[in-house]
Amino acid sequence: MDDTALRSLFDFLRFPSVSTDPARRGSVADCAAWLAQQMREAGLSAEVYPTPGHPVVVGRNKPTPGLPTVLIYGHYDVQPEDPVSEWETPPFEPTVRNGVIFARGATDNKGQIFAHLQGVAATLREHGRLPVNLIMLVEGEEEIGSPNLQAFLQEHRESLGCDVIAVSDTGMVAPGVPTLTYGLRGIAAMELRVKGPSVDLHSGIYGGAVRNPATVVAQLVASLHDSEGRIAVPEFCDGVVPLEDWERQAWAKLPFGDAQLREVTGVPSLAGEPGFTALERIWARPTAEVNGLGGGFQGVGTKTVIPKEAFAKLTFRLVPGQDPERILDLAEAYLRKRCPEGVELELIRGHSGKPYVVDPHSACGKAAQDALRRAFRGRDLALIREGGSIPIINTFKEELGVDTLLLGLALPDCRAHAPNENFPVENFYAGMALNQALLEELARVRF
Ligand SMILES: [Zn+2]
Repeated sequence: MDDTALRSLFDFLRFPSVSTDPARRGSVADCAAWLAQQMREAGLSAEVYPTPGHPVVVGRNKPTPGLPTVLIYGHYDVQPEDPVSEWETPPFEPTVRNGVIFARGATDNKGQIFAHLQGVAATLREHGRLPVNLIMLVEGEEEIGSPNLQAFLQEHRESLGCDVIAVSDTGMVAPGVPTLTYGLRGIAAMELRVKGPSVDLHSGIYGGAVRNPATVVAQLVASLHDSEGRIAVPEFCDGVVPLEDWERQAWAKLPFGDAQLREVTGVPSLAGEPGFTALERIWARPTAEVNGLGGGFQGVGTKTVIPKEAFAKLTFRLVPGQDPERILDLAEAYLRKRCPEGVELELIRGHSGKPYVVDPHSACGKAAQDALRRAFRGRDLALIREGGSIPIINTFKEELGVDTLLLGLALPDCRAHAPNENFPVENFYAGMALNQALLEELARVRF
């Protein structure tokens, strides 16, 4: 088999394009220039656009009037490789073991976006043209929250006009199972700080006479749920779009459920809102989670102290029908009402993002489903949502006004962001086939 595409992927993976590391700035820029050259060799025109941060690479074919325009988004930056000592082989020297490529960025996102580019290259070699007008937009700042992407989209809104966006940066439910993700949860973050006495106090001399901020934080955090696990903030779930019957049926049949979740998480038993399976709770129900909790003495042994303050860091995951600002308003009103006298409550709002859902049975959704089935040779397709958030998907919707299809190629044990990140060679080739099938299927859609 001709492994030119694979060898080029290895060259891509050798760039330590770690966007968060100022010392790697040159490597990130080199990687962008190299990628643009690869696009040109594939038969696209390509340009590297500087931004106040790392550059954006845009490739495109020669547009043909009347054809739909498809934008494929990905990123060439990667997460830091730390801790290096836990890698079995060096993170920037791709190594294949048992048909699996090990390298930083193998799955997230170089392997996936490069599979798309090589799919395009193969189609252009075979047919001399693509069935759609194609824009490939590959940024270098995804792993640091895409700080310059929105401005870039605004500046180039006209030339980036498209009918649909495709992204391969999500997961497959199991090896070989084609997976279309049609929903993501939103997020709203809040930190609560409870301040009591002006200094830490002796708990013998003053205990019993002043309110303890750590106790108040514990009470407030505990008040977020009722005893059965439902969110207790009034109106929090008002407007939440209920699960549809087909979703519950489809998810119940997935080769991944409570047993696997127990194993992956290592918990003795699963817990959550009554009336829903674990997948339903993760994918289609809102949550209120404590991400951090602190205050008072944290050292070895005992220290008899009443801390002068305590804190909790919260995030709410949101589903369609919920708005992050309104959720923070509701949470704030609820916590203020429940906060007792004798302390001061400070609430600091953090980042937020809206939930996202597209209809997987729309014309585009069906095209994506057909393409996935073709690429994975007719295996049963999984239609899923994910519990996490991908803020750029909403940015695309706001700035370009189009929906995004999430066609994942990442396996559950891909170790993205962790040591020994990996991507099966098989998925790389499936990704190429997926790209070819996807562009053909989307060419038939009437936008
Ligand atoms: Zn990532």
